[in-house]
Amino acid sequence: MLTEPTSQPINIYSDWKAELSNCISSIDQLLQLLGLNSKDLNASQLATQEFSIKVPQHYAQLMEYGNPEDPLLKQVLPIEAELKQNPSFNTDPVNESEYNPVAGIVHKYRNRVLMIISPNCAINCRYCFRRHFPYQENRQSKQQWLQALDYLKTRPEINEVIYSGGDPLAANDNFLGWLTQQIESIKHIKRLRIHTRLPVVIPSRVDNQLLDWLGNTRLKPTVVLHINHANEIDAKLCQAVDQLKSAGITMLNQSVLLKGVNDSSEQLIALSEKLFDAGIIPYYLHMLDPVQGASHFDIPVDRAIEIFSQMQAELPGFLLPKLVQERAGETSKSLIL
Ligand SMILES: *Cc1c(COP(=O)(O)O)cnc(C)c1O
Ligand code: SF4
Repeated sequence: MLTEPTSQPINIYSDWKAELSNCISSIDQLLQLLGLNSKDLNASQLATQEFSIKVPQHYAQLMEYGNPEDPLLKQVLPIEAELKQNPSFNTDPVNESEYNPVAGIVHKYRNRVLMIISPNCAINCRYCFRRHFPYQENRQSKQQWLQALDYLKTRPEINEVIYSGGDPLAANDNFLGWLTQQIESIKHIKRLRIHTRLPVVIPSRVDNQLLDWLGNTRLKPTVVLHINHANEIDAKLCQAVDQLKSAGITMLNQSVLLKGVNDSSEQLIALSEKLFDAGIIPYYLHMLDPVQGASHFDIPVDRAIEIFSQMQAELPGFLLPKLVQERAGETSKSLIL
């Protein structure tokens, strides 16, 4: 295989933790950077009391200066509409607390489990279905992790472990490397998957320490990124993805269908095209989970099907994500179309 002389790992001494602690943490700070006015946008200080504002500098730099409709801005700016109570939107929309057999584990589908690795995220997405999840109760001591591992050991039907969160890559690599080694020793587990948005919002997260444990595990590794809009993909992210792919990792993406962010076939087609250019395969397009505070992002199923049909007419099958919904009590995600 030919390798380009310029494609050497660049983030050997990456300082992603510094970037993480340097996130934008107030509405004023973000709007000032973009030359925008809080009143025009219905920004809400009150909404930050329930769920704070948190935006990495890298992600803010991908937004367009002076554009109040910017699709990335809309994902992170707390606004008044979040305070509206909607009776069909609640605090545990996918019923996760019911499937929490031991601390740190969500086991809902027969042969794959989520491990809640880290309660933290690098960014606070306003539509997130985890904004009310009891993460503090899922904060783990090493002793509890050993119990979680025992749970996996005694269930031979489990063949895949999914690192989830929060954002699992907010955890440090020493811990992730240790945990991965423990899981490797469980014979019936074949695959390791990581659901993360961190490389999108802080691409320097993909450094040599990460590639060390993830690139050298016997478990077949997949990283599922979370990208909602083509504007989230820039050269730095592409470089990070190249490094992951060179380490043998399969790259997929999941998006959430969000009103005002990506609710047109043009935007979603552009996203699929740009994902493929970056070496990432579209996996899921999720309907919004009905979480309290996010109802203004909701797209009705009829409209979602219309958008999806238009995508289908323009994209090869392998660039068409599956349109899905999480329904309480189902044995898998439900296909909408
Ligand atoms: C989405 C999800 C999974 C993974 O589902 P796949 O269809 O395999 O991607 C596993 N467990 C839970 C609880 C989930 O929500
Ligand atoms: S879990 Fe994902 S969607 Fe939710 S806030 Fe974190 S990065 Fe955003």
